Amino acid sequence: MTIYDKLLLIYKKYYICTHCLGRVFALLASGVSNLERGNSLLLSFTMENHRKYFSKNKNSEKTALNNLRILAEKAKFIPAQRVLENEGCDYSIINSDEKCYLCNDIFLNLQIYINKAKELVKNIEFNSILVGTSPDSEIINREDKFKAELNLLNSESFKSHFNRVVGKIISTDLNKTAEFSNPDILFLYKIGFKNFDIELIIKSVFIAGRYNKLIRGIPQTHWMCRNCQGKGCESCNFSGKQYDISVEELITPEFFKETQAIDSKFHGAGREDIDVRMLGTGRPFILELKNPKVRTLDLDNIETRVNQTNAGKIKICDLRYSNKKEVIKMKSKAETSRKTYNVLVESEKEINLEEFNSYIKELKEIFEHQKLNQRTAQRVSHRRADIIRKKTIFRVDGQYLKPNLFEFVIETQGGTYVKELINGDEGRTNPSFTEIFKIPLVCKELDVINVDY
Ligand SMILES: [Zn+2]
Ligand SMILES: [Zn+2]
Repeated sequence: MTIYDKLLLIYKKYYICTHCLGRVFALLASGVSNLERGNSLLLSFTMENHRKYFSKNKNSEKTALNNLRILAEKAKFIPAQRVLENEGCDYSIINSDEKCYLCNDIFLNLQIYINKAKELVKNIEFNSILVGTSPDSEIINREDKFKAELNLLNSESFKSHFNRVVGKIISTDLNKTAEFSNPDILFLYKIGFKNFDIELIIKSVFIAGRYNKLIRGIPQTHWMCRNCQGKGCESCNFSGKQYDISVEELITPEFFKETQAIDSKFHGAGREDIDVRMLGTGRPFILELKNPKVRTLDLDNIETRVNQTNAGKIKICDLRYSNKKEVIKMKSKAETSRKTYNVLVESEKEINLEEFNSYIKELKEIFEHQKLNQRTAQRVSHRRADIIRKKTIFRVDGQYLKPNLFEFVIETQGGTYVKELINGDEGRTNPSFTEIFKIPLVCKELDVINVDY
């Protein structure tokens, strides 16, 4: 069966538009649009029949006339109509407003779809786009039945034709690149035969930096009230929050102002406890700003403003653009990367400097570059699995401040429970500083002074 036979089969029973005709044979011939393909097919078949019509053979002439009528009446192909008119043959188009059986003339009216997309992004900054489509089941089922009935094996789907053609026009009109993986804007069309909708998916802007937390008592990210789960109740003063403020909430407002984002997510390279300060070079973080209208930011200016507003509480630095991949990498590294702590420790009994120094010597021998067995700390056991983790301690140093007050510098593998390393957590952390000193030791103040990244 030739493609002309298929063409006749199609138009004897259905009317489809020239775009859809080209689409049905899309895998044949490369480097042309479906519209050109459809047109060429109709035109060459018209020419072939016009040639046969001139032949002196009565049979051939009759078949040619029949075919030209199918082209003129059923395919509504104007060159075939002209041939018949010029040769003085009649034809009649029975249903002149019949719409394409496959696309309901959607491909003849793409400008409506394109204009709406352009309207939606009028006030948004972006560099790259992609078009995605989800045609409703009526469109898909009709097309599947049509292809199966006529045994059409070389076609391109409604969806892929639409995505390509519309994507090309939008990207040309707006002078933006078409990008298949990770575009700034994804236009997601939901299409039915009668109506359509566009969902706009805007890629998040990711900003990496480091933060210092200069005061105790604030968490890294906002916590919902435990009592009401964020709905607002008496115990949280109807704020829905467990803590009034967090590092995240101090940092984000300036970014919201600048990007006009509607939501955000704060990703930290690990987190310190609420009562722990984050000093030194700061902790790496990545702020994800969702649905931003502006992507080009004056990071220096934002940094200055955040630091001015929050002087004495928090500080940010080293701001730069980042991406989702780095968030994943940062999260996976947090468990293993080194952290250095400054710990102020109180002992239950007083000891002298000599005793202290000999304990420090012992601490160094036992801990430095050794693995520690640490069972999940009691204070977090309600939200973390009860397992034993092996954590490496890299360095221990100590300073004698008072007979019952010492300062330690401890460098450990990420995820070590430092308070428990001091107090032993009733034997759950083994060995511990309390065990070596043979006196109960309590961590009074803890500061993170370095996070390797
Ligand atoms: Zn069509
Ligand atoms: Zn509450």
